[in-house]
Amino acid sequence: MALEPMPAAARAGAVLTVDLDAIVANWRRLAATAAPAACAAVVKADAYGLGAAPVIEALAAAGCRVFFVATLDEAIAARAVLRQQPAAGNAAPIYVLNGAPIAAAAEVAEHALRPVLNSLADLADWAGLAQRQGRTLPVALHVDTGMARLGLPAAERAIVACEPDRLAGLDVRLIMSHLACADQPTHPLNARQLATFAAALAVLPPVRASFANSSGVFLGAFYRFDLVRPGAALYGVNPTPDQANPMRPVIELKGRILQVRAIAAADSVGYDATYTAASPTRIATVAVGYADGYCRALSNRASGYVGAVRVPLVGRVSMDLTTFDVSGVPEQVARPGAWIELIGRHHDVDAVAGEAGTIGYEILTALGRRYARVYHGGTSGAA
Ligand SMILES: *Cc1c(COP(=O)(O)O)cnc(C)c1O
Repeated sequence: MALEPMPAAARAGAVLTVDLDAIVANWRRLAATAAPAACAAVVKADAYGLGAAPVIEALAAAGCRVFFVATLDEAIAARAVLRQQPAAGNAAPIYVLNGAPIAAAAEVAEHALRPVLNSLADLADWAGLAQRQGRTLPVALHVDTGMARLGLPAAERAIVACEPDRLAGLDVRLIMSHLACADQPTHPLNARQLATFAAALAVLPPVRASFANSSGVFLGAFYRFDLVRPGAALYGVNPTPDQANPMRPVIELKGRILQVRAIAAADSVGYDATYTAASPTRIATVAVGYADGYCRALSNRASGYVGAVRVPLVGRVSMDLTTFDVSGVPEQVARPGAWIELIGRHHDVDAVAGEAGTIGYEILTALGRRYARVYHGGTSGAA
């Protein structure tokens, strides 16, 4: 008898479900909050680990017309996706936050990208090229108002203000800056950065301005300018950590139970024997580990869920396996082949991040390559 092939999602040790309709709903929610400012989408790092191509396709179909990525290669890939979308095509700008080396000017032009210029040296490179080619190049200008990372600091802004020829040949489409503490609404740096940004805009050419990331959208109208740039909130991370999450949850991660083992009081579990059972305990081993981005810092800290029942993670997270105490779940339910929810309805990405001592952003961007990925909704219909 011939053996039937087994579908990837059925044989995978873990399944990551991405709800594209929830991402679109989150974008619409952010756009409505930000209006009359326009709302872009930050899709760097493979759309925060969730898959740049399906995410860009769904957002473009929903009407998103401005995208931000970190790197040139992310931008080239994003343009290939947008070119499949008749309404977006080459017309939807893609800003490259890290800028692009001038030696890659051909790629920038071919893919209709807009480099973000982060220094006087960047300005000199791109203005020089524009003048040599006798055409104007669309770019964004990034001013540093308190991150001390990328962007023109005050002294370089003053030089541009006094020597406007440094912008000759450049079609500056956007002036942007980035908030350091937007998720802490009472942090004094927010107002200081806002004042610094306003002062910078006053001496630079009068073009569209962009300041707010996800959390910045919720700091109030003064922070929104002409275009907001949310990333994390699109993907379900709470942009207002002091309040209930206004965004819809986007991902679910569930791991399959490979084995269940009954251990006795005083038996230990896993590497370094960091967990010792106080009484007879049933341990379920799930096919997810730190190689999948389910980080080792979750050892003895995280929770899974079987249905609505919390099952504590016990012992170390190892490379490919993680162990949960399923004593609270009936044996016929917590059995090999059954699922444990690791991220989802009962336990969202921010909760897992808290257990790992990190932020939701890092949990998302670490999501592993071995998960079977299932996309719901979006333009291609329900998966
Ligand atoms: C990543 C990034 C964003 C998006 O930030 P979120 O907090 O994810 O909304 C916006 N602007 C810049 C410059 C970024 O690097």
